[in-house]
Order: sequence, then structure tokens, then C-alpha cells
Amino acid sequence: MEQKKTFTSLKDEVWDEGTCSGCGACVAVCPADSLYFSDEPGISHPDTAGYCKQENDKVPCGACYEVCPRTRPSQKELLGTYLSISGARATTEIAHRQSGGAVTAILADAFALGMIDGVITVSEDRWTHRPFSLLITSAGEMLEHAGSRYNWSVPVLKSLKTAVIDKKLSRLAIIGTPCVVQAAHLMKESSHDLVKPFGKAIRLVVGLFCTESFNYYPLMDEILRQQKKIASYEIVKMDVKGKLELTLGDGTMTSLPLKEIEPAIRTGCHTCTDFSALQSDLSAGSVGTPDGWTTLIIRTREGSRFVQNAVQSEKIELTDEINTDAITRLAQKKLSR
Ligand SMILES: Cc1cc2nc3c(=O)[nH]c(=O)nc-3n(C[C@H](O)[C@H](O)[C@H](O)COP(=O)(O)OP(=O)(O)OC[C@H]3O[C@@H](n4cnc5c(N)ncnc54)[C@H](O)[C@@H]3O)c2cc1C
Ligand code: SF4
Ligand code: SF4
Repeated sequence: MEQKKTFTSLKDEVWDEGTCSGCGACVAVCPADSLYFSDEPGISHPDTAGYCKQENDKVPCGACYEVCPRTRPSQKELLGTYLSISGARATTEIAHRQSGGAVTAILADAFALGMIDGVITVSEDRWTHRPFSLLITSAGEMLEHAGSRYNWSVPVLKSLKTAVIDKKLSRLAIIGTPCVVQAAHLMKESSHDLVKPFGKAIRLVVGLFCTESFNYYPLMDEILRQQKKIASYEIVKMDVKGKLELTLGDGTMTSLPLKEIEPAIRTGCHTCTDFSALQSDLSAGSVGTPDGWTTLIIRTREGSRFVQNAVQSEKIELTDEINTDAITRLAQKKLSR
């Protein structure tokens, strides 16, 4: 029998080393549903229910190890390979959009044109700001869930299993931070029989620029609620732009220096060097364009097609007013970690 590395190697090489990104790829592909994230505050990696097809029943598997982005060296580049960089914004108002609403508008248009049948992403309870892994299946739902979630408490890719195995969807877009993009890329490239169905179902990978994400309980409960006396329901928008910016329900804004929220940064983020989601079809961020616009790095022909469709449908407009140096500066800072 061909022996592949299993969750015990993941545990030794990733979980115990503190490099797990929390992407949830291993959770999604485990055919025995044996991997999960517990809901304990400050959790930094998945756990196992104890059963493994290969280790218990000698059935070749190793799917979890195959898709983990932390089991191999990451690409060391600043902006990576791309076709073009543009600014983009939605042509209609999108409530809760984070930057220009381009990500929402492009994927809502893709639903309307029948280009995709599902989107895997993260949304949140707008009262508690607790994030959850979500499968979106319509343009209307896409509009409801605009905005960035800086909090982490869920394996992002968990709902990929629901989409591919339970619902048999086959034209998926994934939105995720660079670690999630790396896992989706591994799935697309894999020839592993248990991973191929996931890779084949992924049509577009949208990466969000990322410097770090935060553990939900330490940020929302210990730092904001207990120390700063800011309750989750008072916050209508969070943004991280060199500091944590909070827009409150009464229209006022407040901010915290990054130093004060550093203890809440996820352990696995400290060793992560990819800022611009180098392996995406389309990367999106706020740095590099004026307020109210989204910066788009269009990397592949597939990514370009989705953007062009949204322009032709008049769902987004583009600008070439881009400050590439500003993007490169953040990418350089992260690469030197
Ligand atoms: C943790 C994190 C850190 C970021 N750091 C930076 C940064 O340092 N510099 C920078 O320029 N930009 C950063 N971004 C990207 C930025 O916040 C916007 O997401 C981006 O500009 C796209 O804006 P938009 O208005 O087009 O997106 P919107 O139209 O508002 O759509 C955003 C889409 O992303 C999905 N989404 C939100 N959060 C997540 C998540 N955590 N995982 C998966 N999907 C999600 C939503 O469901 C929604 O569909 C970060 C984003 C995240 C989530
Ligand atoms: S980085 Fe992702 S795939 Fe690897 S162990 Fe963590 S959650 Fe699983
Ligand atoms: S810094 Fe961003 S991309 Fe890297 S592990 Fe953390 S959330 Fe993922």
C-alpha cells in the first residue's frame, strides 16, 4: 500500500510548530470528517476526532497533508505574476462594502451570467462580528455579505465540503486571504484522487490582500469589550490601515494602534509572507487606490474574463490611477518577516 503522510505529520510539522493558518483545507477534504476546529478561545490549529482511514483501516489517504499550504515552502515574491493592475468600484451602492465593492459586484455579476454556481467565503454576525464559513449561491446573497472580516474563528474552507460533496456544485469561486488561496491552488494542482473533485470544482480564486488576521475572542472580548469598553454591536465597520479603525453606529470613528491589538494576531500569521495572494486569479485590496476604490491585481486570463464581464455588464468601472509602490511597500514588509 502506498503510504502517504497523514494528520500525524500535519500535527508534528504544522500544528505543533505554530504555523497553521486556519485555512480549513484539511477539514474540508478529510473523507472521514475527522478533523475539526474546536470553539475554544485562542485556538490555533485543528484537532482530530481520532479516526484516520489510513492509520486505522489501512486505506490510502493523506488528503489533509496534500492540501496544507504550510507543508511546503511558500513563494517569495512581492506582487508576483500578473496581467494588469487596475482600480475598480461598483457602479451601484453596496451596503457594507469594504473598499470599492468590486469583489461583491464582480461575483454578483458572475452569478447573474451563470458563470458560477457558488461562492465560498466568510461572513459574520453583524451584532457580534463573529465570523462563519459560508457557501453563497445567489447574486442577492452576495450583496448581503459584502465587507471584510478581520476576525478569525472559523476554518474558511469548511463549507467547501458542503458545496462539492453535499450539493454537487461544480462552478465555484473561492474568496480568501493568501493562505486560503494557497490551499485552493494546491487543490487545483493535485492529482490525488480524494482531492481532485475539490480542485475541479474551483473555477475562480479571489485573493484578499492580507497583513494579518485576529483571533475573535482576544480582539472582540478582551481588548475591545473589556479594556476599551466598546461592545461588538456598537461597531458597524472595522478596517486595518496601519491601525485598527472602527466606525461606530452613531457615525463616530475611533482607532487603536496596531501595538495594542498585536496580542490578538493569530499565531500562524506571524510566519506568513504572502501579502498579495500570489496564487490567485484575481487579488483585491484597498492599498494602492483612493478611498472608495478596490485595487485589483488581475493575474490570469480567467480572472481577466470575470472583470471584463462585470465591466461589460456595467457593474464596475475601472481606473488606472494606481500607486503600485504603496502595494509593494506592504508586500516587502510582510516578505521580510
Ligand atoms: C483579514 C484581512 C486582512 C486584510 N488586510 C488588508 C491590508 O492589509 N491591505 C489592504 O489593502 N487590504 C486588506 N484586506 C482587503 C480589504 O479589506 C478588502 O477585502 C478588499 O479591498 C476588497 O474590497 P471590496 O470592497 O472590493 O470587497 P467587498 O465588495 O466588500 O467584498 C468582500 C468579500 O470578501 C469576503 N470576505 C471578507 N472577509 C473575508 C475573509 N476573512 N475570508 C474570506 N472572505 C472574506 C466577503 O464575504 C465579501 O464577499 C484585508 C482583508 C482581510 C479579510
Ligand atoms: S494550514 Fe490549513 S490545511 Fe494546514 S493544518 Fe492549518 S487549517 Fe489545516
Ligand atoms: S497573515 Fe493573512 S494570509 Fe497569512 S496566515 Fe494570516 S490570515 Fe492567512
